[in-house]
This record gives sequence, C-alpha cells and structure tokens, in this order.
Amino acid sequence: MATSRPHILQTICLGQCTSNNLPDQLDLSNIAAEMNRLWRRSIREIRRGIVTEYGAVLVWQHNKLRLTQVTQGTENAIALKPRAVRGQKIVGTFHTHPYKEGWLGITFSGEDFASVINTHENVSVVHSGSRIAVLVCNDKSSRLVNGYDIIDLANVLVRQYYSKEHIPLDEASLQMNIDLCMIHKIAFYIGALDGRLTLRYKP
Ligand SMILES: [Zn+2]
Repeated sequence: MATSRPHILQTICLGQCTSNNLPDQLDLSNIAAEMNRLWRRSIREIRRGIVTEYGAVLVWQHNKLRLTQVTQGTENAIALKPRAVRGQKIVGTFHTHPYKEGWLGITFSGEDFASVINTHENVSVVHSGSRIAVLVCNDKSSRLVNGYDIIDLANVLVRQYYSKEHIPLDEASLQMNIDLCMIHKIAFYIGALDGRLTLRYKP
C-alpha cells in the first residue's frame, strides 16, 4: 500500500494511473486545511439560513497538488472553468456541499458526475462537512455521458435507497455514488476531513 508516495499521487493527478495501479489509500492531507477553510466559508451564515458553495481548481504544480482559482457559487451550484496557467497542470476540481438544513455527508450529485465525465477531470473532490469524497478517472472510465440521463438516474437511485429502503440521506447519496462509479468505471475514495482517504470502489 505504497500510497503516499508522491509519484503515485502524481500519476493519478495527471490521469496516467491505470485502474490496476490505483492505491488503497489516497493522501490529500496537504490540501486539507484549505478545503476545510472553504467549507467553513460555505456555512458561515448558516444561522441566517444562508449557505454558499465554494470551489477551486485542482492543479499539479512543483510536484504537489494545489487548490487555485477559488470561486464562490450559489446555494446549490457552482460553475468552475479552469484557466490554464503556465507551470500548472489542471487536475480537476474541488467543491463544497453545504445545506441550509445542516445535512452533512452528501457526496457527488448526478450533475457532478456528468461534469467530471464530460470535462475529463482526472480527480474531483467534494467536501460534505463530515467527510471528503473523491472520484478518480482512469483508463477504464467513461469519457462521455448524457447529462440528463445520469442526473435522472442519480435521483432515482437516491430516492430508491432513501425512501424505499429507509437508508439515511447521506448513506443513500454514498450508495448512489458507488452505483454510478460502477456503471462509469470511476474509482471512489472516501475519508475524514484530514484528507486521508480510503478506496471504496475501483473498476
Ligand atoms: Zn456538487
């Protein structure tokens, strides 16, 4: 489990890691403080019933993963348009999932999956307040998906797990994420807010 070896993280970030070589652990602890800062910003007005998604572009620079181009979204959406900058390789995106209801642990949405697949992100990270989830695209992953179809499917799956099987909403969201990862051959990592993540699924 040679997981925190920088060159493995580098191959993942640059989209060069095959599914066979994906590690069991993923260490994003060097960006954890920044991710947690953006989470706190997302919920700083929650007492007044206001939450705001924040996001950033993930880049590989000077042999490290970094967050740049921090962007403020709305209550439930964010548009990230990575700009190419000399010396930085674009890896993917990061964003937060705050809810004014105080829900925690809600991982990727159908919209998020559509964006990750169709914009060819290598790595996508969501901070849900209680845990951090990561999608890693690899040599087997889908490269194109119909956005409406995947959003519909995500909603059907969450509803099915949440209402029929009475699974809590965060677990229903997690199950939906794993189902979509299986369909689209995307690796899924999840872990605590210190950025140390464990593999839950790989194709
Ligand atoms: Zn999202």
